[in-house]
Amino acid sequence: MNRMTQIQMHKHDCLIVGAGGAGLRAALGASLGAKTAVISQVFPTRSHTVSAQGGIGASLGNVEPDNWYWHMYDTVKGSDWLGDQDAIEFMCRMAPSVVVELEHMGLPFSRLENGRIYQRMFGGHTSNFGEKAVCRSCAAADRTGHAMLHTLFEQCLKNGVHFFNEYMALELLTHEGAVNGVLAWDMVRGGFHLFHAKSVLFATGGYSRLFRTSSNAHINTGDGVAIAMRAGLPGQDLEFLQFHPTGIVGVGNLITEGARGEGGFLLNGPGEKFMVKYAPTIKDLASRDVVSRAMAQEIREGRGVGPNKDHILLSLEDVPADIIRERLPGIKELAETFAGVDCTKEPIPVHPTAHYAMGGIPTNRFAEVVIGSMDGPETPVPGFYSAGESACASVHGANRLGTNSLLDLIVFGRVGGERMREYANSLDEFVPLAENAGARGIAEVERLMNGTGRERMGAIMEDMQRTMDQNCGVFRTEESLSRQYDIIEELRKRFEDIAIDDHGQSYNLDLVEALELGHMLDLAAALVCGALARTESRGGHYRDDFDKRDDENWLKHTQAYLEQDGSIRLDFKPVRLKPLTVDTIEPKERVY
Ligand SMILES: Cc1cc2nc3c(=O)[nH]c(=O)nc-3n(C[C@H](O)[C@H](O)[C@H](O)COP(=O)(O)OP(=O)(O)OC[C@H]3O[C@@H](n4cnc5c(N)ncnc54)[C@H](O)[C@@H]3O)c2cc1C
Repeated sequence: MNRMTQIQMHKHDCLIVGAGGAGLRAALGASLGAKTAVISQVFPTRSHTVSAQGGIGASLGNVEPDNWYWHMYDTVKGSDWLGDQDAIEFMCRMAPSVVVELEHMGLPFSRLENGRIYQRMFGGHTSNFGEKAVCRSCAAADRTGHAMLHTLFEQCLKNGVHFFNEYMALELLTHEGAVNGVLAWDMVRGGFHLFHAKSVLFATGGYSRLFRTSSNAHINTGDGVAIAMRAGLPGQDLEFLQFHPTGIVGVGNLITEGARGEGGFLLNGPGEKFMVKYAPTIKDLASRDVVSRAMAQEIREGRGVGPNKDHILLSLEDVPADIIRERLPGIKELAETFAGVDCTKEPIPVHPTAHYAMGGIPTNRFAEVVIGSMDGPETPVPGFYSAGESACASVHGANRLGTNSLLDLIVFGRVGGERMREYANSLDEFVPLAENAGARGIAEVERLMNGTGRERMGAIMEDMQRTMDQNCGVFRTEESLSRQYDIIEELRKRFEDIAIDDHGQSYNLDLVEALELGHMLDLAAALVCGALARTESRGGHYRDDFDKRDDENWLKHTQAYLEQDGSIRLDFKPVRLKPLTVDTIEPKERVY
């Protein structure tokens, strides 16, 4: 056996892949009674959750009256009725208690004068069923994710969670119909590690890096979803990708919706507050799909800003400078660094940016991974869980409301951690490893390390991201998507002929990025196939050639399977329209 194929073995009851908010919250729950390990590609506090700005949604009612039922209504409606209503009810009802739990763990929320948690307005969140915008987002200035991640990490350390930082998961291990571990690559020293576990939870985050203009960290390449698909599980609703309205022009870094929540507004080239045309009641705080499309429409019709009329302005002139410094210090810094503007004095040039993956590994409201079809009840995959952006519970449906992701991480991370611990403790023995456990992942690394092909990763990545922006962005058509389908197939062929330049074991980022690119190409293929098939417009998926929502044919979840030959097969699953305790919220026309 050569050095590369020597494999180190590890055994834990519960194994979590990913150390963002969802992974850490799950680890915390799992570690209360089971030997728990977390593997993460980056040091935990560098996960993308750290950059979440605006806050976490919960109907605490600290500023004005609010309740979970209104929160649920907004979430169902924001999801464009594709969200599963039992999971949404579960999340919205849990929200106040999980936020208070975080407060008790030490999360330093911003405060109101009376000492309660400060809450601000956010897009799509209303009181009394859409009557008016409501203050529901609990924030720690504009660094909520940062505060959350550090709080959870401290708690995990206190609980004795074992961290394997800078390890990259490559393959999901299964045997006898159950998930029983993960093969990973040690990014620091090189070498393979087999993590044998009784239960595994994927919290590997999103995949908005498929696009060039993106608010996401470079690590958000969707590894977990692609790895699950390679193990034969479906990816759900992958065509639903959220474009956030306010990315800084040219770079995509995010300016939180909290900026509009505090009183900021958008202006087009002629200086009009154009959102009033598109959403007369809620204007700049309409949900993200509505605002992004309105901006793209203004630009398309020649009312953009700048010499190329290719962007929009975000003005904070109504927000006092001391409020910006106190509640939005991070965006002030971002605007200075990346746009060169002082946002207390000048507007920030912005453009929609790929931001959030609504799709992911299908789960039920207990974070158990499930397989479903139109024909019968879903079946859980024994031992496998997912939470956070890599999962599709589906609480966000076709479009996520701001602040509902941090909430999703905490609610489903919490329940997932508990469930995986209970499941692990119910097993007397570990499910044995299959004879060929890890063989596929090892073969992929060896192929890349020994490859002598002519193609290089950078060029393929650049072509993928650029064309995804062009053909699969805010507006999509049959023509643009068919073109993109061919492009992705071509790029996947080129990927087979890839070689990397670094053949070392230690910190071989050439290898890591090539592995990630392989995952992204599979996801891009599934995303484009889903978008092409879905001949309607819903939430983040807007087809110019089918511009209406079509509940008769498309009120269903897409299940994309990666076949052995690399092709994508689509299946479908019904939306759970029945909540847990309240009457069904029926699809109806948008009132925005
Ligand atoms: C700029 C920005 C601002 C945002 N602001 C808000 C906000 O205010 N409110 C809100 O609700 N939402 C917000 N969001 C969305 C929200 O932050 C994310 O959806 C959420 O943080 C995702 O958390 P996660 O735990 O699922 O994954 P992440 O935090 O992305 O973590 C993923 C983890 O998986 C690990 N990982 C990935 N692949 C592998 C692999 N192959 N092997 C090992 N480990 C792996 C990584 O190391 C990392 O630890 C924002 C997002 C962005 C980008």
